[in-house]
Amino acid sequence: MLHTADVVDAAGAWADLIARLAGVPALGLRPLRRTIVVARVPDPTRLHTPSGGALPMVIEARESCYFKAEGNNLLLSPGDEIPAEPGDVRPDPLDVALALERVEAVTGLGLRSVQSSWAGLRSFVADRAPVVGAWPQHPGFHFFAGQGGSGIESAPALAALGAAIVIGGSPPPDIPLNPATLAPARLA
Ligand SMILES: Cc1cc2nc3c(=O)[nH]c(=O)nc-3n(C[C@H](O)[C@H](O)[C@H](O)COP(=O)(O)OP(=O)(O)OC[C@H]3O[C@@H](n4cnc5c(N)ncnc54)[C@H](O)[C@@H]3O)c2cc1C
Repeated sequence: MLHTADVVDAAGAWADLIARLAGVPALGLRPLRRTIVVARVPDPTRLHTPSGGALPMVIEARESCYFKAEGNNLLLSPGDEIPAEPGDVRPDPLDVALALERVEAVTGLGLRSVQSSWAGLRSFVADRAPVVGAWPQHPGFHFFAGQGGSGIESAPALAALGAAIVIGGSPPPDIPLNPATLAPARLA
């Protein structure tokens, strides 16, 4: 048995399961599967702009697909958000085909052959903002969860804010966020 004053639940898609094991109310986290495909491009010279610049990353306005150059290949996604149980998810061949179809429709690059594909879970609570902090009734059990599709880019700032919240300090000066905006209580 381990005794500690503070626990940080940073278990990604599993965060609600861990909370329940600790007797702490769940956040209502929804893990959603997202698929990424790397497709071969028959004519890689088309991955450059006419002036020789790199193809920018392109995201369809409603995120029905996005793509960017990956060496001589194209990295793409159908922007899928398929509800899934926490676990080691695999890409569904239908989502891979959908990604190829959607990106081919807007690029005409001749995308047919898949070099690799993978999928992972992006987890969201109801308002799709991260959750950092504890329920008022469970002050030692701190969530650090629900980063959705931005957990990599937001990691340095969110981790600094999270550390301040756990030790009861003020948010770092360059992260002027009211901790209440990310606290679990907003979800009650
Ligand atoms: C396909 C895809 C593309 C993405 N693209 C981007 C992007 O471009 N930019 C961006 O910012 N974000 C992106 N994300 C989102 C980003 O990956 C997540 O927001 C981020 O990984 C969340 O970090 P986390 O540490 O909370 O969860 P995770 O990365 O899921 O880490 C949680 C860890 O906890 C471990 N764990 C769970 N339970 C236990 C336990 N009981 N004991 C010990 N360990 C446990 C798990 O094994 C896991 O390693 C993408 C996600 C996916 C799936």
